[in-house]
Amino acid sequence: MCEFCLKHAEGKKWYMQAENYSEDLLSDLRRRNFIAEFFANPERLARDFEGLEKLDKAPGFIKAIIRRIITRKMKKDHFGQVVPVEEIEQIFGFVNSIVRVACVCRHVTLGEEKRYCYGISMGPDGGKMSEILRGLDGSFIGGPDAEGLEAVSKDEAISAFRDHEREGLCHTVWTFRAPFIGGICNCDRADCLAMRATVTHDIPIMFRAEYVAEIDPDRCVGCRQCMRVCQFGAITYSASHEKAVIDQRQCYGCGICRSVCSQDAIRLEERTGVPVAAGLW
Ligand code: SF4
Ligand code: SF4
Repeated sequence: MCEFCLKHAEGKKWYMQAENYSEDLLSDLRRRNFIAEFFANPERLARDFEGLEKLDKAPGFIKAIIRRIITRKMKKDHFGQVVPVEEIEQIFGFVNSIVRVACVCRHVTLGEEKRYCYGISMGPDGGKMSEILRGLDGSFIGGPDAEGLEAVSKDEAISAFRDHEREGLCHTVWTFRAPFIGGICNCDRADCLAMRATVTHDIPIMFRAEYVAEIDPDRCVGCRQCMRVCQFGAITYSASHEKAVIDQRQCYGCGICRSVCSQDAIRLEERTGVPVAAGLW
């Protein structure tokens, strides 16, 4: 169990707890203001990211201190976790509304609207989260008529996530001041700022999944399709054995490799049950 499970869910999976999607948490004015500022000012994210590029050139001890500060701050404000598709489907099963929106990261990195992000709520019609977004006059996401918010049914959302899985995108849940979970995104390392910060710049702003992948060598035929889709560099190929091998210390447990394996050779195991990966978040 990750730190958030212990802190926010009494040892259960924190992102499966409906109270973390509660409308009550949106009565907190600071949280509402944080959400409004986050979506109203995506250019700030671009500046923050430029700062990360500069940080890479700083002396090691300064980098280590600043990394810790950023991670601690993000755990309070906007932190994520990788979640496999079957648990995303379970979340969609118990929330009361789902709204698809343009991805703020792709807005910043590509300058394009890509609808890879899903707001979830225990309230109807997108709940108070949608109210906040509708109030963002001039934001890339909504505007006064909120035309950027697109209500989708549970079936539509599940079908879209199966498509995102086939696209090789990694599913992640996100807080807006923890433990409130406002959204689920579909990330890749090229365009997603959180993944780039975490994986490329070694500044964790999302946890790994509660799972880790394992290959059954008796089933693997060495086609290497799994290697092609792993965004975390966790899979290598053994020429001697003609099989793929997962380095479970690198694995984020997204399960994307599993979905492309035609031999059904990959499964996800509980991270806590895999000694080499148990303490790695
Ligand atoms: S996709 Fe499956 S069969 Fe192909 S190399 Fe990976 S584990 Fe082996
Ligand atoms: S090995 Fe599979 S489950 Fe692990 S990070 Fe790579 S694609 Fe995701």
